[in-house]
Parts: sequence; structure tokens; C-alpha cells
Amino acid sequence: MKYREMAIVVLFGCVYFAAAELGHALSFPGEFASIWPPSGLFLAALLLAPRNRWQFLIFAALVGNAVSDVVFHGKTLPVAIGFWLANTAEAIVGALVLQRVLGSPFAITRLKHAVRFIFAALASGTLVGATVGAGVVSAAFNVPYGDAWRVWWFSGVMGILLVAPPVTNLIVCKPWREPGLKFRAAEASIVISGLTALSVYVFRFNSEPLVYTALPFLMWASIRLRICGATLSTIVLAGITVWNTANGFGPFVQDFPVVHQVVLTQGYLAVAIVISLTLASMTMEQGESRRQLEQLATLDSLTGLHNRRSFDTRLDEEISRFQRTERPLSLLIIDVDHFKQFNDQFGHPAGDAALQRVARLLEKTARATDFVVRIGGEEFAVLMPETDESNAVIAGERFREAIRDAVWPHRQITVSIGAATRSADIPHEASLVMQADMALYRSKKSGRDCVTHSDAAREIVEEPVPVVSSWELVGHA
Ligand code: GH3
Ligand code: MG
Ligand code: MG
Repeated sequence: MKYREMAIVVLFGCVYFAAAELGHALSFPGEFASIWPPSGLFLAALLLAPRNRWQFLIFAALVGNAVSDVVFHGKTLPVAIGFWLANTAEAIVGALVLQRVLGSPFAITRLKHAVRFIFAALASGTLVGATVGAGVVSAAFNVPYGDAWRVWWFSGVMGILLVAPPVTNLIVCKPWREPGLKFRAAEASIVISGLTALSVYVFRFNSEPLVYTALPFLMWASIRLRICGATLSTIVLAGITVWNTANGFGPFVQDFPVVHQVVLTQGYLAVAIVISLTLASMTMEQGESRRQLEQLATLDSLTGLHNRRSFDTRLDEEISRFQRTERPLSLLIIDVDHFKQFNDQFGHPAGDAALQRVARLLEKTARATDFVVRIGGEEFAVLMPETDESNAVIAGERFREAIRDAVWPHRQITVSIGAATRSADIPHEASLVMQADMALYRSKKSGRDCVTHSDAAREIVEEPVPVVSSWELVGHA
């Protein structure tokens, strides 16, 4: 084991101990645990670690468990080991089931993840853990098995629902790397402060009618700050709710027996966490679908290059920039030679593969500021800001040679290129696209596999130029 791994295992043992102490602190009189944070922590650790490292984490949990139970809470060693066995069985079964239904790396980023996670928390490892743990409790402390089972099961569920998502999402999704962190941290402090003030008021001063006003805060945190915001705010709510109720304050105490108080508290927090997790995951899923749609709308599906639609937008922007700054702007239109013949001879799939290869070569040859597009069919274009006429021809030659010199599986592929430039000192009556198209026509006429610039082609062509490319030319600047 490397030092870094060893440090992680030791850290896990310490945090496990702290989580167990927190679980004891949040217990109701008579040791009714309402939330058992180590359950969520243990599960998260197994979900994040490779399987061949699980034994180290299980050992660290044994130490954390034993120190907490034996040293701090006066249990015997056999009881502590029994509890550890129950917790370990719970975490292993839970992790195996979750990896099966959610895949790995585990992270909640879609609604279906949240739903599967909630059901797995309710009905996988916790059932096993409760069955073993309640056996130990009823044997050692003379508690009815059914009561012990229920307390063990649902406190485990609550620990998992509250602790596992923030831990795994923090480590898998790395939200601190996303832009706007400061702004979100500020927003998080506002929501959490509001929620804290409200919950302290409700539970300390027993304001029953206001008990569900926490929900708008949770919804705010979940929609705006996603899984981490959702779980952080429910953790705060859980801390305040449980601590006050267990100490005899708040609307869930009244004259109810302790078991009833525990059930009310757990139910309230379960509603809060389920609403938060589903809202947060739905928001994330919606954002992801929007990003995918944007990609679909602007990228070409065969080659992954920009498509005609994003080219149109970009061309308009570049033309406006040119009109403002008069910095030169060039366009290449690149058409594969005799491609119909290639398709006829080697089949459409081979043609598709060749087009993909052409796209990669163009991308590789382009500079970072060039905008490479598949306009349609076997036609490509490269929009080149800050490029004058002579550099456009040089660049065109580079693209042409890159294609011609590549090794092709069936037969050599070549391209003909038409170039056009907007610059301050050359008057331009036709659109840039039309000029490049005219130049491409000249390249085809003069034997293909060559580059022609529209300013050189202008003098040669007297008659109106037929359009070789399949573009609709209307509407271009
Ligand atoms: P030229 O040298 O004059 O450009 O001849 P060409 O055969 O390349 O030109 P033409 O415009 O006659 O034919 C273009 C061909 O490109 C027709 C079509 O079979 C092929 N093509 C267009 N889009 C695709 C595509 O997505 N996949 C494949 N495999 N072939 C395509
Ligand atoms: Mg062609
Ligand atoms: Mg063509």
C-alpha cells in the first residue's frame, strides 16, 4: 500500500470514529439512534475505493467502531465486534447493490440515480445490517428484537441518505472545479443561514405551524446548488431537528413516547432528504440534456466537426468583427475530389470513414483560432481570423498536402480548395462564401488537388461562375 492510500485509510478510521460519536450524540434517550452517519460514510468509502482495497477500509471501520463503543460508551468487545459485523455486512451489500444498479464511478447526476439510490438505501444493505445488528442488541441488552430492528434499519437508511451523496458527489464530480464557486459559496451561506435561523426558531421555540417552512429553503438549495447544496442543507436541518427533539424541545416532543418522537423526526427528515435529492438530481439531469441538445444542434454527427448551423453564426460574428476592426479574415472551402466515384467503388461505409479521416486531418492541421466545419456532404470549410490573402493560400496548401500525403486504405484522397479573403485594401462586392466558391470552381477546373484564391481567380473568369458547392448562397455576407 502506498503512503497516500495508508493516509486515506487512517483518515477514514478517524472520520468513522467521529461519525459514530456524532451518531451517539444524536441518539434519543434510551440509545434510540435516529441517524447513524457511519453507515453513509462506510458505504461511500466502499463505493469510491477499488475492491482490492476494501479490506483496509473494513479494518479501519473495526478500529473506529471498537474505540467508540468500548472506550467511550462502555460496551464489551464482543458487542462492539457484533456491531462492526452488522455495519460491515450492511456496507458491503449496499455497495455491491448500488454498483450493480448505478454503475461506477457512483454519482447522483440524474433522477433515476436518485430514485435507485433511495430504494437501495431502504432495501438492500440496511436490511442485512438491521437483521444482524438487532440480533446483537436484543441478545446483549434485552431489547425486543422488532424494536431494535426498526431503529437499526431506519437510522442506517437516514445515515446513508444524508452522508453518502455529498461524500461521493464531492469526490466524483469535483464541484469546486466548476466556474462561479465564490458566487455559489455566497449563495450557499445565505440559504444555510436562513434555514438554520428558521429551524432553530421552530425547534427551540416549539413553533409547530412553521415546521414545514424549511421546505422552500431545501428546494432553493437543491435547485440552485444541486446535490451538495441539497445534502448540506438537509444535514443542517437534521442536526438541529434531532438535537432539539432528543433533548426535549420542539413540535415532535409533546407528550409522545420516545419511540413515537423518533418516528416523527425520522419521517420529517426523510421527506426533506427525498425531496432535496430528487429535485437536485432532476436539475442536474435537465442541465445535462440541455448541453447535449446544444451539442447536437451545433456539431456534425458523422465527423464531430462544427456543422453548417454553427458556421453561419460564427461567420456572421467574424464578418461583424472585420467591419469593426478591419483585421483580415479568410475562408477556405474544401471539397473532396471525385468522391462520388470513391463511394461507388468502395461503398458508402468506406466513404463515411474517409470523410471522418479527412475531418481529423483538417482538425490536426488547423491552428487553434481556425474554425473547421463540415458544411455538408464531402465539403468542408475553414474560417481563419487574422489571416490575409497570402497566408490563406499558405494555409490552404498545408491542408491540401495533409490530406494528399496521408496514408489512405483504398485509394489516395485529394481535395480541391477555394480561398477568399476580406481585408481592408481589397474591395469586395460578392460575399466571402461566394468568392471562395468561385475559387473552388477554378481549382476543380484546373485539374483538382490544388488551391486557388478568389483574388487570383477573378481576372481569369469572365463568364458568370456556376456554383460547384452544394451551398445555398443566399444570405451570406
Ligand atoms: P468533384 O471532384 O467534382 O467534387 O466530384 P465529386 O464526385 O466529389 O462531387 P459530387 O458533388 O458529384 O459528389 C459528391 C459525392 O459525395 C456524392 C455522394 O455520394 C458523396 N457524399 C456526400 N455526403 C456523403 C456522406 O455523408 N457519406 C458518404 N459516404 N458519401 C457522401
Ligand atoms: Mg467533390
Ligand atoms: Mg461537392
